[in-house]
Parts: sequence; structure tokens; C-alpha cells
Amino acid sequence: MQTKVLKPTPESLALAAEILQKGGLVAFPTETVYGLGADATNAEAAKAIFAAKGRPADNPLIVHISSLSMLPEIVSSVPEAAQKLMNAFWPGPLTIIMPKGKKIPYAVTAGLETVAVRFPVHPDAQAMIERCGLPIAAPSANLSGKPSPTTAAHVFEDMDGRIPLILDGGPCQVGLESTVVDATHGHIILLRPGGVTREMLEEALGEEVALGKGVMEPLADGEKALSPGLKHKHYAPKAEVKVVLGPDDLRAQYILDSAAKDACPCVLCLEGRRGLYPGLTVLSAGNTPEDYAHNLFAALRHADEIGCTQVYAEGLSLEGVGLAVMNRVERAAGFHVIQL
Ligand code: AMP
Ligand code: MG
Repeated sequence: MQTKVLKPTPESLALAAEILQKGGLVAFPTETVYGLGADATNAEAAKAIFAAKGRPADNPLIVHISSLSMLPEIVSSVPEAAQKLMNAFWPGPLTIIMPKGKKIPYAVTAGLETVAVRFPVHPDAQAMIERCGLPIAAPSANLSGKPSPTTAAHVFEDMDGRIPLILDGGPCQVGLESTVVDATHGHIILLRPGGVTREMLEEALGEEVALGKGVMEPLADGEKALSPGLKHKHYAPKAEVKVVLGPDDLRAQYILDSAAKDACPCVLCLEGRRGLYPGLTVLSAGNTPEDYAHNLFAALRHADEIGCTQVYAEGLSLEGVGLAVMNRVERAAGFHVIQL
């Protein structure tokens, strides 16, 4: 299959809508990462997503909408806390898990009675969904296990020959996948930190938000995951990744000493600390935690392109978007964290 890459225009959006209505797949930009979309009411279309990504069948998909009027078809009820979060953060990078409506097949929810729903703010995502008039199931548009794509070129790298169309809306603004919360337990549980931070959720709800088990630490063998995604290794480049936490000087010394023994090491750090690593390849995490989020996946892909065997990623504090960044880096590292 030939994979077209087109800028979003009325013509390419019409083509995307036609492909989706016929049960095909389209990759499209959102404010978080690129999504791989299919008709969320069509079980066969949803199965094609799993096949194209090589995604484990037990990992459910997020359903994307372009207006609140689509919600009653997708969920059977809206919990009170979910409504508060929708009022505060939709459209935007927040996914809310609610009781599943009848129109959504189990192929989308991986057999669960709950469904994850998101209303993206990206104008091209909204235009595509609106144009085709269907809720769109979409995970990130990468091969399963690889870092999520934040540009159309990343999607092409992974999906060339597997899907007919990639809409190229430029680089994604947030750069990390959406925040995922579960609203089906009476209180909100944070299952995946993202651009909508824990602090922002707590402020909107007026209460503390619990962090799901397995989000910031590995699950024990046989332990049940609140979210199937927590069981799977994620976001990993080919290079081995180690996260290094601790005071600046100790971190720099540890990384310099260890890197001396590696074949092709590199460091991922904020620009302000670049000077601590003379002679080493430095992948830039930018100037702020938000930049780190924006740059992380591209940096991990770049590490593979330049043949790095070992990435030393400097850790961040867990405040604000730091929690989301550390969640992704620690997963990429298989929770290999060096605390000094
Ligand atoms: P992705 O779309 O690849 O960014 O991944 C979606 C994430 O949401 C995965 O970690 C899923 O396991 C999680 N997810 C989707 N639907 C549900 C659900 N109904 N219950 C719990 N987690 C879900
Ligand atoms: Mg993903």
C-alpha cells in the first residue's frame, strides 16, 4: 500500500473522511502526539489499528470526539467528577475513562465495560472528526513499543506501507500523550500523567487526585493493572536508557564515569546543564520541563538514528509536567533509575 502524506486542506480532509467512513486508517495530528485513527463504531476498523501497530489486543484505544454532542453515543453515563474535568479541560489533552456505551464495540475497549474518551483541541483533528461525523478510535501512530510520533516524518518512519494517509499538521505542541484519568470509581484516579498536570486536576476538582498503582513504579509480577497500558513496556528506543536522579555534581560525575565505558553514549539534559558533559553527545531537552516534554520522543528517536547504545537521561522533579516526563522516561528505561 502506498502511504500519502498530505497537508490538511479541505481536499485532504475529505479524503481522510472517506477512508475513515469505509473502515480505513488515517494518521492525524493532535496537540499531544500523532494519532492512528479509525471509525470507533466499527470493530473491524478498530482491529486494523491493532494490526498496523502490532499493538497487544488487550490494550484499549482512546475514542476521540469533535463535539460534546457525540458523547451520549459513546458513554452510558457521565460521572459527576468527569463532568467537572470536561468543563475545565475539554477540548484539550485530557482523556477520561467512563462507562462504555453500546455503540462502541469491545474491539475498541479490549473487552472492558469502560471507554476512554478525549476531545482534542487541535484544529486539524477536530476538522477531520467533524468532517467524517464519526467518533474516532486512535492510539499513538507509532509501531507498538517505539516512542510516540510527534511529527508526520516519525509516523511515516513507522507506518509507511501500512496505512493509506498521513495528515501532516506539523510538530505536536505538547509532545507527550494525553493525561488519562479513570472516573469510574467514585473518585478520580490518575492513570497516565500528561500536559494536564495532577495539580491542575486537583485544582479543578477541589480534592486530591490519587496516582494509580504502577504509574510511577513497575507492577509486581501478576499484579492486576488498573489500565492495561501499564503492563506493557513503552516508549522505548533501541538504545538502553538509564534515568539519573540526584544532585547536579554527583549526576554529572556518575554519567561521565559510566559513559567512559560505553560504546556510544549520549546524555539527555536541559540546556542549562550541557556544560557539565564536555566531550559527550548531548541531546537537548530544551530549557524548561515543558520543552523536555516536547523534545523527549524526538530525542529518543534521534538517539537511535545516530547509533547511540546508551542514553543517560537526567531526571526532573515530579511537579507539574515533570511527573509526565518522568513517567515516560522511566518507562523507556524499563524503570532503570539511578538515584544518587
Ligand atoms: P495510547 O492511545 O497508545 O496513547 O494509549 C491509551 C492508554 O489509555 C493506554 O495506556 C490504555 O491502556 C489506556 N486506556 C484506554 N482505554 C482504557 C480503559 N477503558 N481503561 C483503562 N485504561 C484505558
Ligand atoms: Mg501509545
